[in-house]
Amino acid sequence: MHLLETRDLCVSYGAVSALKGCSLYVDEGELISIVGSNGAGKTTVCKAISGLLDAADGEILFCGEPITAAPSHDRVEMGIIQCPEGRHLFPGMTVMENIQMGAFCRRARAKAAENTQYVFGLFPRLFERKSQYANTLSGGEQQMLAIARALMAMPKLLILDEPSLGLSPINVQLIFEKLEEIRSGGTTVLLVEQNVERALRESTRGYVLENGRIVMSGRGDELLGDEQLKKAYLGI
Ligand code: ATP
Repeated sequence: MHLLETRDLCVSYGAVSALKGCSLYVDEGELISIVGSNGAGKTTVCKAISGLLDAADGEILFCGEPITAAPSHDRVEMGIIQCPEGRHLFPGMTVMENIQMGAFCRRARAKAAENTQYVFGLFPRLFERKSQYANTLSGGEQQMLAIARALMAMPKLLILDEPSLGLSPINVQLIFEKLEEIRSGGTTVLLVEQNVERALRESTRGYVLENGRIVMSGRGDELLGDEQLKKAYLGI
């Protein structure tokens, strides 16, 4: 049984069809990347899985159970946690307060203290800045905080939409290292990225999304060696 599976998932924005039958799966312990160019439908897949957008057709299963019609707050309680694009932190709250806000869901409340230790261990920089307001953090620190806050909800599946967007190379490197640390710590990660090469290099498997459909899938290193993908996405 897969942790997550989408079967022929279709999502539309009015007359615009953004996903046109997207099928993929994620197994426990994987770090999966969905890559593709602008407008391919990557954000739409994330939002459909976390329940922020309704499916027009197809099915989503989590731990073998259909969740296609489940509201997003129920999906959060099941362990599907999305770390949104653009970070969406609480800017007027401190680092510590933002982290505490991540433990709002029932399943995570009792373990908030323990999980705070875990996220500060993962991101010592956040511990150093725990009293600082979120809107005064650097871009890289804000991204760390967004991930830390998402981890406080104890995800079974952590979904990240473009976590490396707008970051300096050093911070991109750091975020990818942390994602691997999170995965090896037992949290399954689903990552959406425009940074095709980096994402595939770090992933157990990857999917290439084009115009609302999966056009290629495989192990990260296999996809990176594929001539067609190299030409289309890496300009090689
Ligand atoms: P990017 O990398 O540029 O963020 P993406 O792969 O995440 O792109 P989506 O944001 O999922 O792509 O968009 C998929 C398609 O759906 C695009 O053609 C986009 O224009 C369209 N779309 C997205 N949001 C809306 C909306 N609210 N209303 C109408 N069309 C939308």
